[in-house]
Amino acid sequence: MPVLNETHNPDLRSWVSSANSPETDFPIQNLPFAEFRRKYTGESFRGGVAIGDQVLDLAAAQTIFSGKAAFGASACAESTLNTFMSMGSSVWSALRLALSRALREGAKEQSELEHCLIAQSDVEFSLPCTIGDYTDFYTSVFHATRVGSLFRPDNPLLPNYKWVPIGYHGRSSSIDVSGQTFKRPQGQVKAADAAEPSVGPCKRLDYELEVGIYIGEGNAPGEPIALDDSDQHVFGYCLFNDWSARDIQAWEYQPLGPFLAKNFASTVSPWIVTNEALLPYRTEFKRDAADPQPLPYLSSDTNSEEGALDIKLEVLLQTQQMRTHNEPPAKLSESNFVYSYWTVAQMVAHHTVNGCNLRPGDFFGSGTQSGPEHEQGGSMLELSRGGKESVSLPNGEQRTFVEDGDTVVMRGYCEKEGVARIGFGEVVSTVLPANN
Ligand code: CA
Repeated sequence: MPVLNETHNPDLRSWVSSANSPETDFPIQNLPFAEFRRKYTGESFRGGVAIGDQVLDLAAAQTIFSGKAAFGASACAESTLNTFMSMGSSVWSALRLALSRALREGAKEQSELEHCLIAQSDVEFSLPCTIGDYTDFYTSVFHATRVGSLFRPDNPLLPNYKWVPIGYHGRSSSIDVSGQTFKRPQGQVKAADAAEPSVGPCKRLDYELEVGIYIGEGNAPGEPIALDDSDQHVFGYCLFNDWSARDIQAWEYQPLGPFLAKNFASTVSPWIVTNEALLPYRTEFKRDAADPQPLPYLSSDTNSEEGALDIKLEVLLQTQQMRTHNEPPAKLSESNFVYSYWTVAQMVAHHTVNGCNLRPGDFFGSGTQSGPEHEQGGSMLELSRGGKESVSLPNGEQRTFVEDGDTVVMRGYCEKEGVARIGFGEVVSTVLPANN
């Protein structure tokens, strides 16, 4: 398991002055990876690292590194990060350490690297890697219980929930990077009082506030990843908006789970915050003594002591009208990944316990991360109590679900005493009207 090291030192400062601002998501202790290019150029996408309000172009900077760091940096020059992610945690750590040293105040590399910086405001992003398989979990017991009570009032939480990290295999083709726009999905729905279903535009379009998890090094078929080995396989994290069509979902989801309600659009934030950068924000994984305790393959001292992650999450909404009047997005809710009923290590161990092989670039959604309070709901379905109560926005508009022209913004960051604050940036996506 990776350990706290000099790259996490909260006193480090960078010669990139914007990285020293207390508000930045991207201080020198973060160093997240993305695939980017200059806007309007048609250049090739290549790997970059965020530092303050700049991107360090790793294709341009790779010549300054040596050893394992050089090996990693040359892979980051590719148009996806899959090769770098496949190289494993010793290469990821070597490049992180080399970047940290080269970007520190007083580093001898400054004069060379200054030419490899591009303002983030001048770049556009692609997906950071080719996502092979996408699995969506369901790890907030609060979300599962509230949504369950809407779909099955007499039986909200199914008996397997507290034993098995529930998930389903999703579809990667419609996952796109922040800035995604998509047409309101159409599909088959059936109102409770209707004799037959009908087809038409979704009327209950929703977002889901999730954490995304990127797998780096994979495992061979038939060789499960043990709980305490998951750190060698988890490359990093992002914010993830898993768009959902609740009316389509309600009609189609039994008996095999979500299908067309979930595969029309999902949006990731551009930066992958590495597993190593998040180490200071690991925290205790607690399971209520009254609940079933995890089976042995999902239980270890390390997982109990530091399996959970303290990531603060928030959702904001900007309507078309707010955009027209230049009003900022309004906050809908706040939550935290620490409420997750299962840890990422448990998701990895469970996903592979049957011998399933994960591959570099595979992606997990955490499931909607709702907190214990109603106000901490990570979906509109929860905040509007199934569409029964509208949510009031500061400009007087009301929402029960997401309307055409609405932009949903999700942000995430980690903050605690004695540790550098690090952030995820944001994930933004906008709903367009359905086809006629
Ligand atoms: Ca989901």
